[in-house]
Amino acid sequence: MENNFDVIVIGGGPGGYVCAIRAAQLGLKTACVESRGSLGGTCLNVGCIPSKSLLNLSESYHKAKKNFNEQGIEFTGLKLNLAKMMMNKNKSVQVLTKGIEFLFKKNNVTYIKGKGVLSSNNDIVVYEGEKKTSFKSKNIVIATGSVPSSLPGIEIDEKNIVSSTGALSLSEVPKELIVIGGGYIGLEMGSVWSRLGSSVTVIEYLDFITPGMDREISNEFQKILTKQGMKFKLNNKVGSVSNVLNKVVVDFTNSKTSEKTRLECDKVLVAVGRKPYTEGLNLTKIGIKKDTQGKIEVNEKLQTSINNIYAIGDVIKGPMLAHKAEEEGIAVAEIIAGQAGHVNYDIIPAVVYTSPEVAVVGKTEEQLKKENISYKVGKFPFLANSRAKVNNETDGFVKILADRKTDRILGVHMIGPHTGDMIAEMAIAMEFGASAEDIARTCHAHPTHTEAVKEAALAIDKRAIHF
Ligand SMILES: Cc1cc2nc3c(=O)[nH]c(=O)nc-3n(C[C@H](O)[C@H](O)[C@H](O)COP(=O)(O)OP(=O)(O)OC[C@H]3O[C@@H](n4cnc5c(N)ncnc54)[C@H](O)[C@@H]3O)c2cc1C
Repeated sequence: MENNFDVIVIGGGPGGYVCAIRAAQLGLKTACVESRGSLGGTCLNVGCIPSKSLLNLSESYHKAKKNFNEQGIEFTGLKLNLAKMMMNKNKSVQVLTKGIEFLFKKNNVTYIKGKGVLSSNNDIVVYEGEKKTSFKSKNIVIATGSVPSSLPGIEIDEKNIVSSTGALSLSEVPKELIVIGGGYIGLEMGSVWSRLGSSVTVIEYLDFITPGMDREISNEFQKILTKQGMKFKLNNKVGSVSNVLNKVVVDFTNSKTSEKTRLECDKVLVAVGRKPYTEGLNLTKIGIKKDTQGKIEVNEKLQTSINNIYAIGDVIKGPMLAHKAEEEGIAVAEIIAGQAGHVNYDIIPAVVYTSPEVAVVGKTEEQLKKENISYKVGKFPFLANSRAKVNNETDGFVKILADRKTDRILGVHMIGPHTGDMIAEMAIAMEFGASAEDIARTCHAHPTHTEAVKEAALAIDKRAIHF
């Protein structure tokens, strides 16, 4: 009886642990299986949280080094203690992962340590070292997440050729760092090490960075990062990466000119994306289908090809983001409990936590053009926002896209200070079907960065006040 559950979730990341807590809240007898030894998944252990800790600390260091003296905060003897910075990061991670254990206890979720393997539609075997335990469950949720991808022939050793996991724990600041891939993980980690003193070169296969983002934002983002000292080699395909003595040698070819280049550096970060992780789950035997990219196929209720087995988060289609996984976790718990759980995939914000931050939600201009939707654009630069100006953080802008006929907000794209927090206002507005006029007529506190949003909404009808 003890090993019988209503719901067993395999994977304790943001998708899995949130699903387990919600299911338990709804009165379902719930367990969560996690093989990592700590809860929180990629996000808390080797993703969102440690990267944001290092982004925050490296930004403070960089500001102290570059800006404070000229702003009247004078001091001498500034020193980087990388080991201490890493300890601070590790402590934050530990506190948060332990916090989930506490939440499990509080909500009566059984935490099962070990690797979960499906043995039938209702049976899971959990392996922990030599120990093997069988569990039964009416419903199973697969939330096994993702792992870093690499390129053919490139072996990640997590020493000199690292994935994001290795890049979060380097013991020295590399003099030269090459980042392969201009997506958000590469740019965030590139920013961390650049601020701490590395010379960072990003090699990207496409002719723009942050694929999928509104192109105007990508271009501005690249301009700002270049101004900060990051170098970009766009349109370049990496052929090989090899350890030569104490250095790493990267060979790449320009796909337009066919020019071949060889660069030498101390560390290479391979940040070319992540792949769904389903190893050892026994999916084929159970009859659970995957798509051509290895993602588990689900229907609109997040059910796999087996009715009582669901899948959520990075292991299924959609953006690989923690909050998307969480929303799916909640939806599945509610669906299992007989409620109408639902995820609105049109309104999932995405943030790059560099300085300045990049934050987006909804459609890009490129998508609207492709879909033949007639739209209006309202833009407002942070240069004309008083708060940004007094804080000397004037890079970037807010851009709102609204339906030409109805004025309904279709997309918001921001690059600038605190935009990662500001995007929530626009996600809520879009959930409520707001028009640009609704935002323009809402009183925003002065002086705040959010006034740039109101001004961008006013700019839709060419009536911005401060620009
Ligand atoms: C460097 C980095 C920075 C990131 N920053 C952000 C960010 O700022 N914001 C954001 O939204 N997203 C960010 N992400 C992405 C985010 O971490 C993922 O989208 C999110 O963790 C996915 O959640 P998940 O629950 O689907 O899977 P995961 O978090 O990957 O969790 C899956 C868990 O399942 C466990 N598991 C796998 N197989 C089994 C098994 N058979 N038995 C038991 N346990 C198993 C794994 O050990 C893992 O702990 C970042 C990722 C990285 C790498």
